[in-house]
Amino acid sequence: MAEKIDIHGVMIDNVTMDEALSRVLKMLDGKTPNKIYTPNSEIIMQACRDKSLMDILNSAELTIPDGAGVILASKILGRPLKQKVSGIDLVRKIFESTKNRAISFFILGGKPGVPEKASINIFSEFPKAKIAGFHHGYFKDSEVPDIINKINESKAEILLVGLGAPKQEKWIYNYADKLNSKVIMGIGGSIDVFAGTASLAPEFIRKAGFEWLYRLVRQPSRYKRMMDLPRFMILTLKTRYFKKKVH
Ligand code: UDP
Repeated sequence: MAEKIDIHGVMIDNVTMDEALSRVLKMLDGKTPNKIYTPNSEIIMQACRDKSLMDILNSAELTIPDGAGVILASKILGRPLKQKVSGIDLVRKIFESTKNRAISFFILGGKPGVPEKASINIFSEFPKAKIAGFHHGYFKDSEVPDIINKINESKAEILLVGLGAPKQEKWIYNYADKLNSKVIMGIGGSIDVFAGTASLAPEFIRKAGFEWLYRLVRQPSRYKRMMDLPRFMILTLKTRYFKKKVH
């Protein structure tokens, strides 16, 4: 088990990408279900305001640091995380690992038509990634039992849930016990990226830690929730220098 690093109450696994991948592959041979969350600084700020979300994040079997802000905060707080392990990069690694072992997936989320497109693209790039089923993410609560049956009937080993944060974290927490997949992972907007309906920031921008700026320019409507980024850094600096509480 990796040590956990406390970032404002959210316990993040201190893992490298390779360690995260080997944890996921081990989960496929173990007990069901294992929940994986990928908090970035925005979600951590939401969890600071919503105790139930904090508890949900901390109930996961694996919590990876998704974003340069979380890594920077860990350094400022004096407990550096080893590496940024973003959700979409981990999902890619899992798809790549199907070269050695076929794995079945169910994709839940995105607008109608989007998970289908994502499935086709994933299958053409990773032929041994078996897409056992998919469903869009705009459904009513009354449809959830049917969706759960569809997922269980598909026998997918890994369920990828992209309903946006914190909806997907809450959905996974509420229904994990009814699901038979070994791994259930919240993946935000990654389904759009695999479908080709959204694009990731270029690698040099991601490496420089400016993905947030790229997203802001492309989706200015996100500016309100992105105000959580400066709030996150201010909270980090206050915790480090004024609360004398080094996590
Ligand atoms: N989404 C969904 N159902 C919903 C709300 C959102 O399937 O009720 C999908 C949306 O289509 C997108 C993904 O969730 O593919 C991520 O949405 P957003 O960018 O708002 O969330 P983030 O990952 O940035 O938190």
